[in-house]
Amino acid sequence: MWPVLLVAVYPILYFYANNISELSLVFLEKPLCFSVAISVSLVFLLYRICGNKEKSSLVVTGLVFVFFSYGHLSKYLNNKLFIPLPGGMVLGPDKILLPIVFLMGGFFVYKTLRTKSDLSGLMSFINIVFFLLFLTSVATIFINEIKKNRGDGDFAKVELGRQESSVETPDVYHIILDGYARNDILKDLYDYDNGEFVADLDKMGFFVAKKARTNYIHTYLSLPSTFYMSYLDFLPEKYGRNPVNGSVAKNMMLDNLVTKKFKSFGYKTINFVSSWEGTNENYLADVIFNEKKTFKMLGINIPTSESNMVFLQTTLLSPLIQEAWEDALRRNTLSVFEKMPDVAYLGGPKYVLAHIMAPHPPYVFTEDGGVVNEAILTNADEGVERRPYYLNQLKFITKQATIMIEKIMNNSKKPPIIILQADHGPASTLGRRDDWKSNYSQEAVRERSGILYAVFLPDGNYEEFSKTMTPINTYGLLFNKYFGENNDLLPDRTYYTSYDEIYGFYDVTDMLNQLDDEAVELPGKQ
Ligand SMILES: [Zn+2]
Repeated sequence: MWPVLLVAVYPILYFYANNISELSLVFLEKPLCFSVAISVSLVFLLYRICGNKEKSSLVVTGLVFVFFSYGHLSKYLNNKLFIPLPGGMVLGPDKILLPIVFLMGGFFVYKTLRTKSDLSGLMSFINIVFFLLFLTSVATIFINEIKKNRGDGDFAKVELGRQESSVETPDVYHIILDGYARNDILKDLYDYDNGEFVADLDKMGFFVAKKARTNYIHTYLSLPSTFYMSYLDFLPEKYGRNPVNGSVAKNMMLDNLVTKKFKSFGYKTINFVSSWEGTNENYLADVIFNEKKTFKMLGINIPTSESNMVFLQTTLLSPLIQEAWEDALRRNTLSVFEKMPDVAYLGGPKYVLAHIMAPHPPYVFTEDGGVVNEAILTNADEGVERRPYYLNQLKFITKQATIMIEKIMNNSKKPPIIILQADHGPASTLGRRDDWKSNYSQEAVRERSGILYAVFLPDGNYEEFSKTMTPINTYGLLFNKYFGENNDLLPDRTYYTSYDEIYGFYDVTDMLNQLDDEAVELPGKQ
């Protein structure tokens, strides 16, 4: 029985150990339970059929091993194993690999059950190998979990003085379109003019910051700095530039300063749950809109989180999850556009947050909102060759967002405040995570830092908003203007951070200023 248990447990621990900075131990619970329960039941079932302990154990060990390695193999062969068919069709790795794996699996089961040789030597060998692997993973997890728990942040303990709530203050909607590029960058790199959208926003009375930039080029830094109205220098100081616990910044979002302030102003806080950990169902809002963020597979409801998606793609289930997962992702995004305008009917002052994970990959919408064939379901699906997919998704999201904003305005009794922004730009030039270093260029950083940024204020007075806005001052300005606060405004700076050193911040503001100035001087651009 030992080899089965080890093979059933090890791949899950290995995945966890490799993503330990982003995952918490809760992740392990369900996969471990399912894996052990199913594997052990299979051994007993087989034992009842063939009456041989060792054979049953070996067969199940082999099958479990195939189950957990299939996705890795399929991914590895993705561009290597294919058969071109007439008519431009291509037979991908799964359609070739699955039959081979099933045939070989069948042969292995048959041979094992029929064999007369002694299997104990083989079993001991498997036992030792997987036990060593198991120990390595457990040790890695153990050491890093201790480091993680040491001195976790006290960032969330912000003292708030109770403020008198004013009956006159407007509702506030904050809509984040993840990875939505600035228009001049869409023109320069994507050969697409999004001017119609800018004009629509203009017509509705929005202020659009045409040269807006993010403060940090990653979601997990950009949003916390916006929602704490401050730069995050304390992160590298306290945790180092490459910490074991990379979730600190992300977790800052769950109980952030801005949301607390709105609560203290007597606002009802409302969150449209995203699949990203900082703005998911753990975000502390009074009202939570959570479109069923699960998809059903083999009778089990599986949450559509990024970690689950990445993990399941390493298993034999990877060919199965594609369609259901794409459907779940589409449903999640569409439900926000559909339901948010109705929130305006709720009584009392409201603070509404919606972090929409698009146009950021995975690309699951065509320009008209149709299903993308052969969609690649990874959040890292970026590269120059993927620009058409990004653009299609952006076009669809733009239409939906415009309709949604019009409806919110129509449904609101009093004109609300609306913040519409991206947390960072796209990374088509930087590419996938592993390629960031080799693809680094000034133009790539410009693409990633230029963001859509638009604000609607009921009085239409945008004196304090500049065309080079960064989100760090959004709430400082709003709280000063509408809630009688006296926040100091901060200089607009932008920091580059690679995936190698997630808290290694490089100030690229001056470089970007220069690039943007040069870009303006080229003919035909604004
Ligand atoms: Zn993002």
